[in-house]
This record gives sequence, structure tokens and C-alpha cells, in this order.
Amino acid sequence: MPVSRFMGESNARYYAARDPLGAAGDFVTAPDISQMFGEMIGLWLADMWARAGRPEDSIYAELGPGRGTLARDALRVMRGQGLVPQVHLVEGSPALRKVQAEAIPGAVFHDDIASLPEGCPLLLVANEFLDALPVRQLVRTEAGWRERMVALAGEEAGEGFVFTAGTQPMDAAVPERWRDAHVDTLVETCPGAAAAMVEVAQRLTTQGGAALFIDYGHLAPRAGSTLQAVRAHSKVDPLALPGEADITAHVDFAMLAEIAKAGGVPWIAGTTQGAWLTALGIDARAQTLGGKAPERAEEVAAAHRRLVHGDDMGDLFKVLALSGGGWPAGAGFAPQA
Ligand code: SAH
Repeated sequence: MPVSRFMGESNARYYAARDPLGAAGDFVTAPDISQMFGEMIGLWLADMWARAGRPEDSIYAELGPGRGTLARDALRVMRGQGLVPQVHLVEGSPALRKVQAEAIPGAVFHDDIASLPEGCPLLLVANEFLDALPVRQLVRTEAGWRERMVALAGEEAGEGFVFTAGTQPMDAAVPERWRDAHVDTLVETCPGAAAAMVEVAQRLTTQGGAALFIDYGHLAPRAGSTLQAVRAHSKVDPLALPGEADITAHVDFAMLAEIAKAGGVPWIAGTTQGAWLTALGIDARAQTLGGKAPERAEEVAAAHRRLVHGDDMGDLFKVLALSGGGWPAGAGFAPQA
């Protein structure tokens, strides 16, 4: 089967049955590292909303909200700024919906973006959502481009899985810029992320609002496999434990920005998580939190470092921001050329 099907089936099983987040789970994400992360996002959205003229009917929408921690922290800060939006959560996992419903009473659930309300401005957030969507891998062979497939390693059950090249020519599925790349070049595309971006771009231009996509990935185009799997905070072979480990791939923000631009979104900007959080004032927030609870000062400083430092999440994680429908440019990004 294609890598994308393997990843899709594995992750659907993986997320449906469990809450994989936090120290006791398989991986920790930024909202669980510190409340400061959700707070900065809430501040950014509230600032956009205020400068857009405080439209009353704006809604908060989040894709893949995990435990609802980010939403809770962001909504608390927004409330302090007079912004109390209706909450719409796009979540596929029944197990996580239960956790989210407890964290955010009154939230409305959706299977996908398509059923989010129309006609009202959107304040949309997705943190570590796109990286979980299945990627296609295309590999350049002597005979041309082929889909990268996952096959049984041997005749016997239990011998595991291996990668192999498919037999069908796939040249037409390769993005233009890679078509003439040398033999053995591997490129990834993420049809689910591309489709999500098309929908969000269209909604921002017609409904107005702003969106933030935060994930590990790259702002410039690049080739190579980025498939990885994590279980109990350790990297494992992506083919070894289907349905038992979280399989992810880096997000191609360069491609997503191109899609948004083609969709007519007037303002698009990208930067690193560390630069963005710093520009929004996370240093001052860490000082305040540490000052209020001196016994936690060290913990707050460590969390701050983890979120912004280049050796940790600060450079690897990127922020892609968009706005449309008459909404302003967002804070914390270099002005557009
Ligand atoms: N945003 C959270 C959780 C990240 S884990 C955080 O930062 O902590 C990925 C989240 O996306 C989970 O909530 C998972 O259930 C959800 N998810 C993954 N694939 C999905 C899909 N195809 N449709 C809807 N939700 C999905």
C-alpha cells in the first residue's frame, strides 16, 4: 500500500482509542509545556480581532485540539480582552473529544473543516495537527517517479514491513520544482494539509478572520523523507508498530503558503516559533509568572527555554499566519516585502 495509506490507517487507530499526550503518554506538545503558549496565541487573536473592529459574531475554531489545553489558555486571555467567541473543535478521535468536552464546556464538535459555521469571522488555530495527516512519498527511480509503498517483508506473517517503490509511473503527481531531480530523490506531499489550506483560505477571504498553523516543518522547499514515529517519548521505526505509535511528517509550509496565496489570501506570513513568541512578549510573561510564584520560577524558566530556544522547539517549529476579508496583518512577523 502507499505510505500515505499506511500512515492514515495507523494514525486513525492510534488516535481513536487513546489520549497520547503528556508525560504519561507518548509525546508532549507546547500547550502542555506551559500555559504561556496558549496565552500568547489568545493575545495574538484578541489583538487581530480588536483591530478588525471587534466583530461580535467571530468564532474560535481549532483543528486537532488534543486535550483542549491550548483552547482553554487562549480563551481565558481572550475573555480578558472582551472577546468571548463560540467554540468549534474539529476532532476525529472519540477519546480526545471526551477530554476536550470537559476542558471546554459548550464546545461544538466537527468531523472536518467543511461543517464549521459560514458567514462569521474565524479565529482558527491548529497546533501539531497538520503533521499527523498522511503524506505521500514519491521517489525518483531510473525509470521515472514512483510512489513509495509499504509491503510485507516476507511470506510469513510477523516478518514486518519494508519500503518499496511502486510500479505505476507517478511523474504527474510530482510538484513541478522537483520533476527533474536526480535518481533517489524523495519528495513528500500532504494532500490532507493542502486540502485544509484550500478550505481555510477560501473561508478567510469570504468570512474574514485569521488563522495560525504551528508545527514542526520547513518554510523553504526541501526534499527527503521526514517520516518519523514516536512512542513513550522515544523515536521508533515508523513501520514497526502501526496503530501503536504516533506517525508524523514535517509540514511543508512553503507549499501551504503558495496554496493560500493562490486562494487569494491577502496576508500570509511565516516565522519560527521562538522568534514569534519572543516578539509577542513571552519573556515578560515568564518574568511575571515566575515572580508571582517564586517556588515555580525555575520551572517557568525551563518551559520558556523549551518553547523559544533554537536548540529546543524554537527553530524547528514554525508559525504560518494568514488573514483575510478585511482583517489586518498580524503581530510578531517581519513586515512583508
Ligand atoms: N493540538 C494538540 C494535539 C496535537 S495531536 C496539542 O498541541 O497538544 C494531533 C491532534 O489532531 C489530536 O487531537 C488528533 O486526534 C487530531 N487529529 C489527527 N488527525 C486528524 C484528522 N484527520 N481529523 C481530525 N483530527 C485529527
